[in-house]
Amino acid sequence: MIDTSIKDNIEHVQEQITSACMRANRNPNDVTLVAVSKTHSVEAIVSAMDVGLSHFGENRVEETLDKIPKISEVTNEQVVWHYIGHIQSRQAKDIVPLVDVIHSIDRLKIARKISSLAKESDKTIEGFIEINISGETAKYGFEASNWKQNERVKSELWQNLETIISLPNLKIRGLMTMAPFYDKMEETRPIFASLAELRDEIKQDFAIELSDLSMGMTNDFPIAIEEGATIVRIGRAIFGNRN
Ligand SMILES: *Cc1c(COP(=O)(O)O)cnc(C)c1O
Repeated sequence: MIDTSIKDNIEHVQEQITSACMRANRNPNDVTLVAVSKTHSVEAIVSAMDVGLSHFGENRVEETLDKIPKISEVTNEQVVWHYIGHIQSRQAKDIVPLVDVIHSIDRLKIARKISSLAKESDKTIEGFIEINISGETAKYGFEASNWKQNERVKSELWQNLETIISLPNLKIRGLMTMAPFYDKMEETRPIFASLAELRDEIKQDFAIELSDLSMGMTNDFPIAIEEGATIVRIGRAIFGNRN
């Protein structure tokens, strides 16, 4: 039985993705919807899979360790698991063997750890470098507010990037950020535009592919798409509010 509210929600989100792409002259196939299933049940995830979704995101270690094996027991469908939460060093060994993509590479130490654990597991993790564009102190990620004006910020970031992109078994696909919460979603636009511009500059300086931008959540994904997001991470608009 498909949960009809989840089905309706997914269809509505997909329509919004399509219209944002239309406004920006982009192909909707270039935007991947990651359904953020944190706090939601295995049944809810299976419902979303039945509607056709195959990318899911989690951000709590205990919950991820519990859910991923359960999902693989109840379905043969191929799921791409995205880890989107901050990872403490000691937690990395549990997460790396289970997931495919990690969006929260927010410091050099964890990048090194993920790389070496991926090597041990004989797999390659697709990674996103988490960037703190807004400068909010409560946010994780490499510091990059004012990266254009501030040479020190930029050179530190460039040094870290140089190390991270050379790590084995970790393929960096792009950058990830979270915008602050604003009342009007339009206010997030400069944050997303800045991440896109930063990506372009890194791409050019390092001559690497860096094709993806992981940005946009329930509150702001249409703006993120207009500014170039290739992955949106959406929880509440699909599964409803979290407890
Ligand atoms: C929870 C979470 C999301 C999804 O947020 P919603 O507001 O439910 O869409 C996206 N990205 C990260 C990193 C999250 O922790």
